[in-house]
Amino acid sequence: MQIHTLDLNFQNTPNTIASYLVIGPGGPVLVETGPGSTLATLRSRLKEYGYQWTDIKYVLVSHIHLDHAGAAGWWAQRGAQIFVHHVGAPHLIDPTKLLASAGRIYGDQMDPLWGETLPAPAERVTSVSDGDTISVAGLSFTAMDTPGHAYHHHVFHLGGAAISGDAAGIHIPGPSFVDLPAPPPEFNLDLWLKSVEKLSALDVEAIYPTHYGRVENWRWHLATFKQLLNGASEFIRIRLVEGLDRDQIVQAYLDWQRTRAEEAGLSGLLFKRYEVSNPLSMSVDGIIRYWRRRLPELKPDDTA
Ligand SMILES: [Zn+2]
Repeated sequence: MQIHTLDLNFQNTPNTIASYLVIGPGGPVLVETGPGSTLATLRSRLKEYGYQWTDIKYVLVSHIHLDHAGAAGWWAQRGAQIFVHHVGAPHLIDPTKLLASAGRIYGDQMDPLWGETLPAPAERVTSVSDGDTISVAGLSFTAMDTPGHAYHHHVFHLGGAAISGDAAGIHIPGPSFVDLPAPPPEFNLDLWLKSVEKLSALDVEAIYPTHYGRVENWRWHLATFKQLLNGASEFIRIRLVEGLDRDQIVQAYLDWQRTRAEEAGLSGLLFKRYEVSNPLSMSVDGIIRYWRRRLPELKPDDTA
């Protein structure tokens, strides 16, 4: 079994969104499709490994967010079988609600960012639940329910690898650093911490976050990610209780993350790649929303 990282060069920025090409005894499996906007790039990356799009019969997606599964409908319409979390499955078949929800966040940037998001024929979509084994191409992937980033999220475990979607956070190739993708509306600290515990118990050689590529020092990565989950949530909770508004919190969070990045030895260019993979302001909006629903002393507002 081989796992190749395919660089989708999202927004002309390398090392931000990956698809994984897993080669089994029975052929290739694609894990994560990326968005519609990067399909041409994905197809040319496949060619570099000697595959045409017609060779792809099986596609797994960690969750239905557009940067992970936006192109799933395209693959399904061309006959590939898509394996997706059972909660996400209806939204691949009819992406109307998914696109409306993304449209509220991205506005007129929808098309340049994500391109076309096609509906998947129902018979091409297989709903997956926690613990299910997906046996395709002579490979055996185990789905692990890993909510926190989204309620509908799976990590796929096979052999010495865990293809982790967004559940283990973000690491871009470069100095050791971890980022937290917490967009609205489903960020959930408690559930995410439990998911990280679950991942920490795995016995693997490496994890493969979608953003971006193989991570071998994954125990350090997960431990740091757990601290960041707690730290970022607390950072924002304190400022909300102090009465700072959304823009003030975004600024404070940006300053904090820039300092963290500088201390880790990240260049400006690398910091930009993290920002392209996950706009920091979006994580602030997701975490603010989480707290506003839980802390009665905070006035609800229209944030996110
Ligand atoms: Zn996501």
